[in-house]
Amino acid sequence: MYKCTKCGHQFDKLMEGVIRCQSCAHKILTRIRDPITKEVKAR
Ligand SMILES: [Zn+2]
Repeated sequence: MYKCTKCGHQFDKLMEGVIRCQSCAHKILTRIRDPITKEVKAR
């Protein structure tokens, strides 16, 4: 998972060799390791 730092658009895969937001063409993306959010519930 990747997330655009500018518009927040998320995508599962990037085009091969192209690191660019597919929505706004921004070049800086954050890598999201796991789409499943792990929460620790403290009770
Ligand atoms: Zn973007």
